[in-house]
Amino acid sequence: MQDALFPLPNERGLDDWLSQALSEALQTVSMGSAMPDSDPDSWRPALARQDFETPTEPTRAMQWVIDTLTTGLVQPTHPGYLGLFNPAPTYAAECADRIAAAFNPQICVYSHAPAAVDIEQHVIRQMALRIGLPEGSSGHFTSGGSEANLTSVLCALASANPGFRQLGARAYDAQPTLYVSRESHLAWLKIAQSVGIGRQAVRLVDTDGAGRMDMQALAKTIDTDRQSGCMPVMVAATAGTTNAGMIDPLHECRELASHEALWLHVDAAWGGALAASPTLRSALDGIELADSVTIDAHKWFATTMGAGMFLTRNPTLLGQIFDVATDYMPAGDSPDDLYINSMQWSRRFIGIRLYLTLTIAGWQGIAQHVEHSVDLCRQLSDQLIANGWAQMNDSPMAVACLQPPGGGERVTDIVNAVQQDGRFWCSETRYERTPVLRACITNGRTDAQHINALVDLLRTLV
Ligand SMILES: *Cc1c(COP(=O)(O)O)cnc(C)c1O
Repeated sequence: MQDALFPLPNERGLDDWLSQALSEALQTVSMGSAMPDSDPDSWRPALARQDFETPTEPTRAMQWVIDTLTTGLVQPTHPGYLGLFNPAPTYAAECADRIAAAFNPQICVYSHAPAAVDIEQHVIRQMALRIGLPEGSSGHFTSGGSEANLTSVLCALASANPGFRQLGARAYDAQPTLYVSRESHLAWLKIAQSVGIGRQAVRLVDTDGAGRMDMQALAKTIDTDRQSGCMPVMVAATAGTTNAGMIDPLHECRELASHEALWLHVDAAWGGALAASPTLRSALDGIELADSVTIDAHKWFATTMGAGMFLTRNPTLLGQIFDVATDYMPAGDSPDDLYINSMQWSRRFIGIRLYLTLTIAGWQGIAQHVEHSVDLCRQLSDQLIANGWAQMNDSPMAVACLQPPGGGERVTDIVNAVQQDGRFWCSETRYERTPVLRACITNGRTDAQHINALVDLLRTLV
């Protein structure tokens, strides 16, 4: 059994087997349904029987998992998946994941994995420069946007009151408050709860009728909170709302945050990829003025899941927030010792996926991917508008919130019918309180033919 678990380096025949099996499975997926087309009853009995008492031959074990996933998922690698940014991953990222797994470096401490940490930190610094943060800005990879956003709240709380580190929320004699638009990503509620300031710390500021933070409403909410004894600590602007790709007024947010002495975070979880494109990046103007920024690699940059980034112009603050000394860890006081500069301790080599994606494609490769997405999204909405639909959002990004000719009430039926058909996955959401069909074309495998086929399908449904 030891041989199956820990084969010698020259006895890794399963690598080739696995490559072949994956290639076949992904081909099956791409020609099949974007929706799960088997139901849980087809795998649950086998799982229930699996008591791990009898070892299974490795290729049989893996083939079962691959077959089960081939029919048992909404398929992000399917070209008709017009979903929630879960990307068809770049092949480079997929290979990178395999390389990271094979070496399995522990990158929480620089001295344990100097090469891996340097590769990651290089990507982080390049990304910070790409969005215009000043020289000396830094940060780290995270599990995703939520961890990065959580880190921004810790920064805001520690920078507004250095006692926060020891005393937590009790360092404040008032309720700390933070400001996001009501179109923001609502992980903010869980984040506020987990950092100990409670969900009521989150102010969901009204939008301007076009999905962006209403600046007057923001100023007024801050005023009202101060008068009632709260302690505002941060504004988190969204650069690319999850729903509709709308970008809050970043310059105005900066001005107000500076005037009120608040931390300014910009959540560009999916929108950050616009920075790759010379023609589209101006939509992010003002992001360079943020104190900190979230960008997910696993959304529009199309790496495999579990890859976000936290970037900040003030990285020394991270060392103050996350600093700990233990006897069993190699002594560290360097910004490259990630366990004392970030939330995670044991750490996977996350950044290799974006490193290899960017190295192989270049910024221009990502720019093409992003621009292609935006083009396809425009093709979809133009064709639907010609068929009596209305596009409700006006985003520079690749997401369209569309209302069918009959009005919002028909959206649920139409989206259900699309999902039933199986060739496409899109979703229903609300934009400025109106139900819409949401199509997000960030999938690198989608092309114009798929868009035409979706339009044809929608024509038969309305
Ligand atoms: C997806 C998203 C998040 C959350 O990121 P995860 O990677 O899912 O944790 C936060 N903000 C925005 C704007 C997002 O689109």
